[in-house]
Amino acid sequence: SRKLLQDLKGKENVTLSGQKINIYANIGNVTDLAAVLQNDASGIGLFRSEFLYLESDHLPTEEEQFQVYKQVAETMAGKKVIIRTLDIGADKQVDYLNLGKEDNPAMGYRAIRICLNEPEIFKTQLRAILRASAFGNISIMFPMIISVNEVLQIKKIVAEVKAELDTVGIEYGEVELGIMIETPAAAIISDLLAKEVDFFSIGTNDLTQYTLAIDRQNAKLDPIYDAHHEAVLRLIQMVVDNAHKEGIWAGICGELGADLSLTKRFLEMGLDELSVSPTFVLPVRKEVRETK
Ligand code: PEP
Ligand code: MG
Repeated sequence: SRKLLQDLKGKENVTLSGQKINIYANIGNVTDLAAVLQNDASGIGLFRSEFLYLESDHLPTEEEQFQVYKQVAETMAGKKVIIRTLDIGADKQVDYLNLGKEDNPAMGYRAIRICLNEPEIFKTQLRAILRASAFGNISIMFPMIISVNEVLQIKKIVAEVKAELDTVGIEYGEVELGIMIETPAAAIISDLLAKEVDFFSIGTNDLTQYTLAIDRQNAKLDPIYDAHHEAVLRLIQMVVDNAHKEGIWAGICGELGADLSLTKRFLEMGLDELSVSPTFVLPVRKEVRETK
């Protein structure tokens, strides 16, 4: 009940046998921050920054983005805030990017593919995030990764942006760099990717779509979109194991993270973090605390 859930505020995310897990919240906008605080999330595991772009009639400027990221960082007051870089594509249209129509947008020109092809768009966002990192505990996460090479390119660009900030004397914090594991390719080479990043966050919405070859937008396929498919669960286990072998953490930020029927299994798999909609933070905490 509501009252019982409210009593869980301020309590640890720990099982009866003492296993701990971080429960963070997913947000798409600064207006979601109230719900994050209200539901006592220990951090923000996914800030879907594309909303900034979708709600604007022009490419958001560095200053516009900086103000938003800074507000999120300051509101969370030292708690972890993981900002995902632009994850937009032919399915989420904005006129000013002139992306054009594609037959297969889920497999199209989107997310990190756009950012690596248009470094100015990418660098503007990275500068804004890095500047905001001086005001809180910010990490950066990159979507739709399929290769080690992409990660190396990203790290090179981040280093360039940092060097530019250094030149003009602008401060930034210690920013961890992580990637979303949301393609089967990334899951399968997660042993290699783990050597290059600070954390993994598994995007089960897309990972399921690509693993099962089921368009997540096609309602006709809902009956066979099996979120508990063993193929997806095995990939999650593989990703967690490969992360831990390299000493980095792994979480889930897709909808599956809030599936209470899997909480026990996720704990057994060794997941370090679940990032869920703000309203699921306390229900997941309750489930964790009742798990042996
Ligand atoms: C995912 O794919 O699971 C995810 C968290 O990202 P989005 O739902 O924004 O694609
Ligand atoms: Mg995704």
